[in-house]
Amino acid sequence: MRAVPKRPAAKGSSPKRPSAKRRAFSKAEAAEFTRLRQSMPEPETELEYDNVYQLLVAVVLSAQATDVGVNKATPALFAIADTPQKMLALGEERLTEMIRTIGLFRTKARNIIALSRMLIEHHGGTVPRDREALEKLPGVGRKTANVVLNVAFGEPTIAVDTHIFRVANRTGIAPGKTPFEVETGLERLTPAEYKLGAHHWLILHGRYVCKARKPDCPVCVVADLCRYGAKTAPSEMPAELIRARAEAVTPAPLTETSVSRPLGRRARRRV
Ligand code: SF4
Repeated sequence: MRAVPKRPAAKGSSPKRPSAKRRAFSKAEAAEFTRLRQSMPEPETELEYDNVYQLLVAVVLSAQATDVGVNKATPALFAIADTPQKMLALGEERLTEMIRTIGLFRTKARNIIALSRMLIEHHGGTVPRDREALEKLPGVGRKTANVVLNVAFGEPTIAVDTHIFRVANRTGIAPGKTPFEVETGLERLTPAEYKLGAHHWLILHGRYVCKARKPDCPVCVVADLCRYGAKTAPSEMPAELIRARAEAVTPAPLTETSVSRPLGRRARRRV
């Protein structure tokens, strides 16, 4: 590979200091993220379902929607259509009506009817335990396939949703421009015995602590590892100190922020 030639400094100007480059997380450092498990030793998806087909439908419905919103609509739907055959019998028009509170409901109804037909025609009415076959189903992408493989079949996959994407990039543990890049980074760094639960822990951390608008850094159990440059802090902690720690190559432990906070009522019940 050809080296990038160095540009000569302009006459009279002082050479710029190279910007501090953060090194990647080592496997040992990344393994420290497993302390997220403390708050939720046996995580489960927050979507409600009774069989693998219902899980698949719920995950398809949850794209760009909240699990809470999906859980409001699915009990009535699954009461009459809990198998691909019953979903086809229900039909697209009635399905559309039943899920109209969920974003993109028309497209999702069309996909659910089409995937139900495909399950009957190609998989004997069951959900396949196979990534390639899952991703061929209408409305099912890599993330949905990863969730189904992990939750329904116990495969150690990491489904990168908006929460994991944010947490991985903010903390610097597995930065990436695309979900696939983040997934690959997390796959590489996550200890094998934690892979099954990793996506749940990261999702719940992103949903309840490392929130999109304002992360709860003072109660974050991985604050000492996180390299986010705009951490929120208790008022007595100077902003310069927070910034300095974030820029440090090896951040010192923020022991005063390393306290866990129990999850909300709903999360404790389901997770
Ligand atoms: S310290 Fe703040 S930004 Fe970093 S992971 Fe924790 S909540 Fe998120």
